Amino acid sequence: MTVPAPKPWILGIAPYTPGRSTTDDGRKVTKLSSNENPLGTSAAAKAAFDAADRTLERYPDASAAELREALAAHYDLDPARIIYGTGSDEILHLAAGAYAGPGDEIIHVRYGFAVYEIATRRVGAEPVVVPDRDYATDVDAILAAVTDKTRVVFVANPNNPTGTFTVRSEIARLHAGLPDDVLLVLDQAYAEYLSPEEDDAGLALAMTEPNVLVTRTFSKIHGLAAERIGWGYACPAVIDAMHRIRAPFNVTTAGQAAAVAAIGDTAFVDATRAHNDTWRGWFVEQIDAMGNAGLRPVPSKANFVLVLFEGSLSADAAYHGLMEAGYLVRWLPGQGLPNALRITIGTEDETRGVIAALRALTDR
Ligand SMILES: *Cc1c(COP(=O)(O)O)cnc(C)c1O
Repeated sequence: MTVPAPKPWILGIAPYTPGRSTTDDGRKVTKLSSNENPLGTSAAAKAAFDAADRTLERYPDASAAELREALAAHYDLDPARIIYGTGSDEILHLAAGAYAGPGDEIIHVRYGFAVYEIATRRVGAEPVVVPDRDYATDVDAILAAVTDKTRVVFVANPNNPTGTFTVRSEIARLHAGLPDDVLLVLDQAYAEYLSPEEDDAGLALAMTEPNVLVTRTFSKIHGLAAERIGWGYACPAVIDAMHRIRAPFNVTTAGQAAAVAAIGDTAFVDATRAHNDTWRGWFVEQIDAMGNAGLRPVPSKANFVLVLFEGSLSADAAYHGLMEAGYLVRWLPGQGLPNALRITIGTEDETRGVIAALRALTDR
């Protein structure tokens, strides 16, 4: 019997592996594997979600007008140049779909976000993977990889899973070095964790440069991961191209309402950033103190830290030991990081607990 044959490039995709929430033996434990907000969701966003129109037979606002207005007012943007997606993941797929296809190349860094490779292969394009510089994004390596087949460059800033940050002048140098017909996608899923002075000026670039797309999400600092809402900012031509292939009603009614309220709740965002600064700082100090056991934190500007295991305790053993102790973190051998764990900064108790468990493992 013959069966329909998927396109060959589809079979080249390794499915995305989500962060786990249960242990090998099915116990529910503390999840520090998906960079979710340990403080939960803004009360205002939850209330807006609960109060949202319950006319469930009606489609949501296909133009997400209120959401775009709220974003435009908050960030001082042109609402017509905002696109929205079912998570920012959808927008990454739209960028690849609108600008690349078979025979084209899309560049991303070796330790980059797993969705970039999936989005690239999905449209039949070829992923071009460039080396890092001690886990950080190497602008020169990206520029050296550009060919006349390059259509898109994906850069997350801060990067996931490394947490590393590329400063404004380096982002500007990357953009200046790219041909005008290459779309630079700056994935700013963790941008709200930066202080205002650290801004990489991605949105400012997207305002003036026709080949820059910035993507943002409500899944991380806004604590709305369950609702799947992301957005992007680019010049009208890029937004127009992506709208043509976007799913027509891609953000739910309650999700749009919750997101509008989340944007307005700056106190919650500030509290989350402050919590993260405090506990990421403490976490990194504690990992540094385990340096004699071979643990090394990669410098992070996000809400997680990539911890390298370069001594006798392996990342594999630490992963399973932490699971035993009740903490699920991210081990990424499939992404070329068998020697590292990506650990989300949790509540104070969770952060202290994961450090105590790591110390017990290194003392063993
Ligand atoms: C979490 C994350 C996203 C987006 O997630 P959505 O929930 O789809 O908005 C995008 N890029 C990076 C680097 C991320 O870590």
